[in-house]
Amino acid sequence: MAKLISYVLPVYNESEGIEQFYAELKKSLAKLKSYKFDLIFINDGSRDDSLIKLLSIHEQDSRVKVINFSRNFGHQKAITAGLDYAVGDAVVIMDTDLQDPPSVSLELIQKWEEGFEVVYAKRAKRKDTFFKRVTANWYYRLLSKLSEIEIPRNTGDFRLLDRKAVNYLNKFREQNRYMRGLVSFLGFKQTAVEFDRDARFAGKTGYSWGKMIRLALDGIAGFSTAPLRMIAWMGFAVAFFSILGILYALLVRLLSPETVVSGWTFLIIAIFFIGGVQMIMLGILGIYIGRIYTEVQGRPLYIVDSVIKSAK
Ligand code: UDP
Ligand code: MG
Repeated sequence: MAKLISYVLPVYNESEGIEQFYAELKKSLAKLKSYKFDLIFINDGSRDDSLIKLLSIHEQDSRVKVINFSRNFGHQKAITAGLDYAVGDAVVIMDTDLQDPPSVSLELIQKWEEGFEVVYAKRAKRKDTFFKRVTANWYYRLLSKLSEIEIPRNTGDFRLLDRKAVNYLNKFREQNRYMRGLVSFLGFKQTAVEFDRDARFAGKTGYSWGKMIRLALDGIAGFSTAPLRMIAWMGFAVAFFSILGILYALLVRLLSPETVVSGWTFLIIAIFFIGGVQMIMLGILGIYIGRIYTEVQGRPLYIVDSVIKSAK
C-alpha cells in the first residue's frame, strides 16, 4: 500500500500568497506518484480572508483538510494541532508563505526513505532582513551555549518527522512550546537537508516583535536552567564586591574620617548597581515562575472552531 505523508501547514493572514503556495506544493507533490498525501492547513485565527481561500482549495482537492482555530494561538500551537490531526506515516511541517520551498520537502521525504526519522531543512542562505539574520545568528549561538541538549542552528520548523517521532512529540503537552527544541530532545536518527530560504512571497510576517521575543525566551527557558544558575553566580560576584566595598568604607572611616561625607557618589552608584542587578535577577526568576504558573493551569493548548475535511 502507498505510504501516506501528511503536510502540516500553519496559516496566519496568508491570503495574498496562499493560492500560489498551494499551486507550487501541488506541482511538487505531483512528482511523487507513489505516495498518498494529506494536506492539513491550520487557520490560526487569520484576520484576512485566508479561511475563505482555504475552503475553496478544499473544494478542489479532497486531500486538503482545514483546522480552523477559534482565534490566533500562535505558530507553535498551530503546528501542534496539525501534528495531533495528522495520521501519515511521515509528517512534513512547513510555512505557507513560500519561504520554505515545497520542492525541498521532496528531498526531506527522500532522506526519510533512507532511514532517518527526523529530517530538518537547514537554512544555508536566508533572504531575510540584515537585522533578522544577525539577531537569529546570535540567538542560535547563545541557545546552543545555554541549552542542555543540542538544538541545530539555523533551522526553523521546516522538517519531516517519522510517525514514531510524531507519536512521542504528541505526548509533550507543555504550554510554552519550542517545537524545534522538543524535536531535538526526541533523539532518533536525525539529519539535515540544506536549502536557501527565499524571501516571503506575499504579505508580511506574522511574527511580531513580541511573538519573536516570546519564542526566543521559550527556547532558552524551556531548554536551559543556566539563567537560574547565573543568578547564583551574579549573587556571589556582587557579594564579593560588596565585601570589598565594606572594607574600603571602614578603612576610610578609620584612616581619614574627615573625608567621609564626600562618599555620596560611591553610595549612589552602589545603590543603583545593586538595585539593577536585583531587578534583573527577579526578572529571570519571574520568567521561570510564569512558566510554572501557565503549566499548572493546565489549559488546553488550542481551541478548534471547526474541522473541514472530505467525507471518506
Ligand atoms: N503563523 C501562524 N501563527 C502566527 C504567526 C505565524 O500560524 O501567529 C504561520 C505563518 O502563516 C507562516 C509560519 O507560521 O506559515 C511562519 O510565520 P512567518 O512567515 O510570519 O514568520 P517568519 O518567516 O517571518 O519568521
Ligand atoms: Mg515567513
